Amino acid sequence: MATLHLPTLLIALAVVTAVAMTLVLLAAHWAGARREGWMWALGSLGLSGGLALLTVGEHPSNTQVVLGYGVLSAGLGLTVGGFRTYAGLGRAWLPVLLLGVLGLAGAALFAYAEPSAMARQRWTALLTLGGCGWTGLWLWGLPEAPARTAQRLTAAGYLLTTLMIGLWLADPLLRVAVWSGPPMAALLMLMSQLVTLGGQMLMLTQRHAGELTLAATTDALTGIHNRAGFEELATRKIARAGQTQQPLALLVFDIDHFKRINDTHGHPVGDRVLRRVVSRALNTLRPDDLLGRWGGEEFVALLVGVSSEQAVQAAERLRVAVVERGFKLSNGTRLSVSVSIGLMATPAQADDPRTQLRKLVAVADMALYEAKRGGRNQVQVGHAETRPPPLGDAQVSAWVAGATG
Ligand code: GH3
Ligand code: MG
Ligand code: MG
Repeated sequence: MATLHLPTLLIALAVVTAVAMTLVLLAAHWAGARREGWMWALGSLGLSGGLALLTVGEHPSNTQVVLGYGVLSAGLGLTVGGFRTYAGLGRAWLPVLLLGVLGLAGAALFAYAEPSAMARQRWTALLTLGGCGWTGLWLWGLPEAPARTAQRLTAAGYLLTTLMIGLWLADPLLRVAVWSGPPMAALLMLMSQLVTLGGQMLMLTQRHAGELTLAATTDALTGIHNRAGFEELATRKIARAGQTQQPLALLVFDIDHFKRINDTHGHPVGDRVLRRVVSRALNTLRPDDLLGRWGGEEFVALLVGVSSEQAVQAAERLRVAVVERGFKLSNGTRLSVSVSIGLMATPAQADDPRTQLRKLVAVADMALYEAKRGGRNQVQVGHAETRPPPLGDAQVSAWVAGATG
């Protein structure tokens, strides 16, 4: 086997660390200036810098050695602390302090009191094994959904590093002797820096992408799905219902004379009414039902696996839940609020889910119009066969023509 050339490896390590640090910092900046980015970047600087301090020079002085181990351990602590920050756990300084002090103390002990290069290496390896092993296992089990893939990839990187350090520590027993010497340590550090910094960058970007998607599909006022989010999830639900032959129902409901509430009591009160209507709808519907804000003061709900009678009952429960208790304002005034509901129920269909959704909305919307015309605060059931909408909306007519055809 060709021998590894330490100076070359150290130069490669410096370049890799600098590039990876820059990428992590950029990723953290684009993800909204996340503090963990700084901790990870400085952590890797400590790890690589510490190792470089330990391996340069023929006969490093005790001071250089102790400093090297101290910097390396603090770097490890910063990295672990960065993960605490990433998970919003707080007390990110704790691992920095703990690992930094333990690393420095061990190195000083085995440099001045009981001088032994082997003991210094083993002590630091043990600390690194603990830090990387804990990070890998903890990260693997982190339940956070948006960045799960990136978290698990990073966790695998840390567990791999842990395994390699473990093999090195077990070398006197195993006698494979491949892990020994500073060049091997530099190579190991280079590989683990690439894997872990790459993983951290992925975690930051994947989580940020998840946050952006959530923001783009959520209604900021009420916290439920907005139209785009509802359409996306409803399409998936409808596709699944088609495969499992389950009937569907769609409710469209709209707050009655909402403009008057705004005009009389102001927009903030209108906003509070919107939120309250949503919370009553959420309490009335089943957890599996999908609720979304279609726009303004109009909402949609998709119910899977319910008969048309059950859908009418659900709509009626919703109507009563809104109108029954009214809404109390902070000044004690009671507001009476009601909703009109249009609904469309259909047996399982094999149509394209997006087309099905459009038809359901079009027909339920016509039924809603009937409920408004009929005096509001009521439920109307629409049928795909009903005549075109009285307003003559060309698009709606086209959808309904599709529904009957
Ligand atoms: P109808 O019974 O026929 O539905 O009458 P309406 O007054 O409820 O309907 P209209 O469409 O005339 O008025 C809806 C109002 O909803 C107008 C708009 O300013 C208000 N609105 C839409 N979005 C919001 C919001 O986010 N907050 C508040 N406070 N008002 C909103
Ligand atoms: Mg309205
Ligand atoms: Mg409306």
